[in-house]
Amino acid sequence: MSHTALVSAFMERTAAKNPGEKEFLQAVLEFAEVIVPFVEEHPVYKKAKILERMVEPERVVIFRVPWLDDKGEIQVNRGFRIQMNSAIGPYKGGLRFHPSVNLSILKFLAFEQVFKNSLTTLPLGGGKGGSDFDPKGKSDNEVMKFCQSFMTELCRHIGQFTDVPAGDIGVGAREIGFLFGQYKKVTNEFTGVLTGKSLNYGGSLIRPEATGYGCVYFSDEALRHHGHEIAGKTAVVSGSGNVAQFTTEKLIELGAKVVTVSDSSGFVYDKAGIDAEKLDFIKDLKNVRRGRIKEYADKFKAEFHESKTPWGIKCDIAYPCATQNELDEDDSKTLVKNGVIGVFEGANMPTTPEAMHFLRQKGVLFSPGKASNAGGVGTSGLEMAQNSQRLSWTRDEVDYRLKIIMKSIHENCVNHGAGSKIVDYVKGANIAGFRKVADAMLQQGVV
Ligand code: GLU
Repeated sequence: MSHTALVSAFMERTAAKNPGEKEFLQAVLEFAEVIVPFVEEHPVYKKAKILERMVEPERVVIFRVPWLDDKGEIQVNRGFRIQMNSAIGPYKGGLRFHPSVNLSILKFLAFEQVFKNSLTTLPLGGGKGGSDFDPKGKSDNEVMKFCQSFMTELCRHIGQFTDVPAGDIGVGAREIGFLFGQYKKVTNEFTGVLTGKSLNYGGSLIRPEATGYGCVYFSDEALRHHGHEIAGKTAVVSGSGNVAQFTTEKLIELGAKVVTVSDSSGFVYDKAGIDAEKLDFIKDLKNVRRGRIKEYADKFKAEFHESKTPWGIKCDIAYPCATQNELDEDDSKTLVKNGVIGVFEGANMPTTPEAMHFLRQKGVLFSPGKASNAGGVGTSGLEMAQNSQRLSWTRDEVDYRLKIIMKSIHENCVNHGAGSKIVDYVKGANIAGFRKVADAMLQQGVV
């Protein structure tokens, strides 16, 4: 059978077992296109049915989350934790609170997390969780009530040696604080059970910055490997949350001109470029006042494009940092027409499969989120190490280790994805991430 036929057959079997889970199947397909042929050449993995085992979560917990809103009315949400793979360490991965959250989305994220965590070089298994709860428009009190109810159930499934959640979309320092408080109260234990904690109670310096900084460090490696540099480049960044903010911050620091910022209502095009002062405004707007990005356009006299994504703006480098499938085939064509050199995913799976194929086919450097956004979870791993030691490392120490992690991910991608002209980061990241997990599974037997 040809490789294409083998991939199709594998995908048909996986789809039959997971009907309607389109995001999960999309993530598995990206992986299978690289790994099915690889497994063909390495029969030891085939014999052990490693792929079939990897697409089946070790455990899925789904639970009711009832809570009282400010009016005293009962609200009911659904909570999830996907414990995908613990071959190389305790389950590790964020919690997402967003109305779009469902089993398929969390399984895609948990699946990606397994290989991303493997790439970090740290002993971290993969998981993901969350809820269809929407923190937007809720009072602090309502968010706290929800988090407490969510953790009252989740606490029996997690632990510092079992499963260590963190943040993701809709879960930032505020939510992690409420979740941690409730975990401690219910279990009577003070442990590093969550990462992304505030510095006051065991958080790590650089953790808030880590996903964005790491993404830029990775892109810096990739660009330099191919004879380019960040300084002087025009960058388009989507999103305005944690990842977008710190991607922008590091890009500015390294001499790029960042011209866009966006949220679900549209995007801002700031021809003059976002500077440190404007970025402070974004941070305050989004993290403290929880407002809409249009305010930036009004304040700094920039263009606001309602309900649009920023991919039509001419740039050299692009960083999708908002959410899954935010960059489609048409967008990729526009980017290529405008001369883009590299697209580096800050979010998880922000590029559709068609867009990804087009970019790679046109020779654009393209890094999948599992490689370029792994600095977030990598630094979560560093937070766990500090918690185990009962120590806090300095900012420089954590940043230095983050750089080493991103450099080694890049090297690993080059080792497994070197092509004749450019590195195939999708191939490199998937093979490198897969091998460590697969070998650990082989060594641990059929469990
Ligand atoms: N949610 C982040 C991710 O997608 C971080 C997870 C973590 O730190 O555990 O990788």
